[in-house]
Amino acid sequence: MKDVIIVGGGVAGLGAALTLGSSEGKTLGAIETLVIDNGKSDLKKAELYNVPLLKKGSNGVEVLEQMKKDALEFKSVSYQEGCVKSIEGKEGGFVVKTENESYESKYVILASGAHSFDILINGEKVPTLEHDLLPKPQKVKLAYKNRQELVDGVWVAGLLAGVTTMYATALGSGVEAACSLMSKIGGKTTIIHDFPGSRE
Ligand SMILES: Cc1cc2nc3c(=O)[nH]c(=O)nc-3n(C[C@H](O)[C@H](O)[C@H](O)COP(=O)(O)OP(=O)(O)OC[C@H]3O[C@@H](n4cnc5c(N)ncnc54)[C@H](O)[C@@H]3O)c2cc1C
Repeated sequence: MKDVIIVGGGVAGLGAALTLGSSEGKTLGAIETLVIDNGKSDLKKAELYNVPLLKKGSNGVEVLEQMKKDALEFKSVSYQEGCVKSIEGKEGGFVVKTENESYESKYVILASGAHSFDILINGEKVPTLEHDLLPKPQKVKLAYKNRQELVDGVWVAGLLAGVTTMYATALGSGVEAACSLMSKIGGKTTIIHDFPGSRE
């Protein structure tokens, strides 16, 4: 069983994966994380001139590949292509099903973007709200409670959490979902900060 399954390998999902991966070798210990993605990130259509620290004119596909590579350098992070259809169970024991595979995890982060949300949770369709910060019709977000937790053990991140449709806001939302989850595991506010020599 994985600790965390992240549904969606866009900016938010990979940002969450990188944050969870960085728990390796720290007090919390490695958090085994699987990212499941069906390859349709909005970032693939972008050329970026306004993302802090990214070279102006960065190609979205290349940026996404680099984020994936960085996340996968942590041994506890893995990646699988697939389209998630359903999630069953409760905190501590979820079964996440794609078209033809089934995976288990203790926690789930939903980072599947704002185009639609059709994943059934315990057999039920999840109510969506209009994504009011996205200037296009029929885009969705999910309403969550404290620190992006949708229901116990399931977090929402990125555009699906209703943030403004920018790389940096989606990334920040993914990182916040991961820190919220780690804080639940740790039983107190938990973040991972490195400093020179801390991974030697
Ligand atoms: C044309 C264009 C230009 C842009 N230009 C800029 C810009 O210049 N600057 C800027 O800051 N932002 C820009 N953006 C916005 C930026 O790309 C988004 O804000 C960001 O990609 C959102 O990240 P996300 O992870 O929330 O969603 P996404 O990147 O959309 O990722 C969601 C991921 O979830 C996957 N997924 C969905 N459903 C499932 C499922 N059921 N199972 C498995 N996987 C699933 C999708 O395939 C996708 O990979 C642009 C967007 C577009 C479309």
